[in-house]
Amino acid sequence: MSPGLPLGKLLAVTAGLPDKKPTTQPEPATQPFSPALPSAPVIDGDFENRLAQKLTNCMKKENMGVQEKVQWQDTSREALPEAFNIEVLQNETMYQKFLRIAEGRQLAENEFRIVEKELGVSTKELLGFMQKAVQSGNAEWLPIFEQVRSRYFCRRCGSSHYEEWPSLYGDTYTCLDCREIGPLNSLQILFRLHSVDVPGQTRVDTDKCKPDQTVRSYSLEFTFAQEKAAEELWQQVHRQKAQETLLWAACGAGKTEVCFPLIDSFLRQNKKVLFAAPRQDVVHDVQPRLQKNFPEYNIKILSGALPQDMEPSKLTVATTHQVLRFYRAFHLIILDETDAYPYEGSSVLEYGIRQALRPDGQIICLTATPSAEILLRVKSQKCAIVRLPVRHHGFPVPVPEWQKNKLTRDRSLVELKKVLLKLIADGPILVFVPTVALVKEWTGVLKMVFGDLRVEGSWSSDAARREKTVLFRQGDINIFVCTSILERGITIKGVQVAVLFADHTLYDARALVQMAGRTGRSAECPVGRAVFIYAEQTQAMIQANRWIQDQNRLAEEWGCLNG
Ligand SMILES: [Zn+2]
Repeated sequence: MSPGLPLGKLLAVTAGLPDKKPTTQPEPATQPFSPALPSAPVIDGDFENRLAQKLTNCMKKENMGVQEKVQWQDTSREALPEAFNIEVLQNETMYQKFLRIAEGRQLAENEFRIVEKELGVSTKELLGFMQKAVQSGNAEWLPIFEQVRSRYFCRRCGSSHYEEWPSLYGDTYTCLDCREIGPLNSLQILFRLHSVDVPGQTRVDTDKCKPDQTVRSYSLEFTFAQEKAAEELWQQVHRQKAQETLLWAACGAGKTEVCFPLIDSFLRQNKKVLFAAPRQDVVHDVQPRLQKNFPEYNIKILSGALPQDMEPSKLTVATTHQVLRFYRAFHLIILDETDAYPYEGSSVLEYGIRQALRPDGQIICLTATPSAEILLRVKSQKCAIVRLPVRHHGFPVPVPEWQKNKLTRDRSLVELKKVLLKLIADGPILVFVPTVALVKEWTGVLKMVFGDLRVEGSWSSDAARREKTVLFRQGDINIFVCTSILERGITIKGVQVAVLFADHTLYDARALVQMAGRTGRSAECPVGRAVFIYAEQTQAMIQANRWIQDQNRLAEEWGCLNG
């Protein structure tokens, strides 16, 4: 495609399926969408001619023998110019391949090249396939920005956070919230291909896909609690038809695996599943576990760490930002660590998840520490809930102990040393502090206090973070001071936890539960201690202890506690 043309202003072709907005997006104005932003010099209604011009140029370049300008009557419904159309129809196999690749995706102009490369076709052919899909009602061309009253929203990420800059074509807008997956501006277009039934795909009766010990793909031994939670989850999704279900699991309960029967049933129905997680390390950790259990599927990873390709997959594992590439693609989305940064509180990522879900699709939210918002949705029955209150080894989650200590004077250090010495007798210690400055300060203090032990500190932007984490995992560091970087997703055998300044305003109940939840995770060392060091007790500390106690009580009621 010639890079300079302001396509976004031109291709206001909104054919195809009605553009239903996810519920989180403000309702668009009722009048038809106006393609050109008001200050842009492009005349409304001129876009068909511009598209025709573009295609004409393209065909000339490809030596199609087209001398006259292509007359584009109606880009949404009418047939393509004859020469163009013949080309498309002759290549039905390639068109079907294009559908398979682009199904459920929203492609920005700069991604067209990747599709061309994947298919081995020219820009002209690709445009032909795209237009054919639009004419068949399965796809749509859209300007990047949508005007809702006086504001503009990016269609890819739903954000109205953009920067304005002067261009050759007038004022132009660049979306600031989806830059992470490639910059988008108002001079570009977005192509969306809805889910289509590609020949060769068959749908299987849901009832034949019940969790069944004899036919299931995955090879896992579930505990009683996992079996019960997996069955409940399956029932919620297939029987109750809840669109959203919260799986509230204890820290270290094996919640990912509990979703396997559900994933299995969707895959066997030839439906598409997405496993999304907020962080790259989680994504790269989960994919091999899924691949091992679903060996007959090619499980795709999408994360910023890997170059993008368009290979279609029934089961995709992606970071939440990558989800913005999809449109109504998935029948089932499993959203791990629902309450974790950057997902929590990000309307863009929530928009992305809702947009990637098919209208009849379902979302499973996994967390050990649900947010107040999702618990409210559970209360108002907008979201179903399944509990998994016990760890796979059956021991309760350690309830944090509290130690009052202002951590200000020499005497405080003597007290702290006593506490830490008791902890270190059982294993290495993770010392959490609320800020980077405190990591640096307390690493120094603890090095001084424990001259004979190896003390290290790390935080998110620490260049040596990865190496230090590896050393800690190997048992080469005795005391590891850190911010919330190790709050989630990490299992270290025999680790003990101390949270300094546990009453700090940066710590909410969920952070405290996650930090305490690092202890006693492995089957070899199923017990451990977590100590909150505080000056004044806070609501968050009380809430954290209550959550852990409630979880343990439920596990006892289920009769599945060992400890
Ligand atoms: Zn955007």
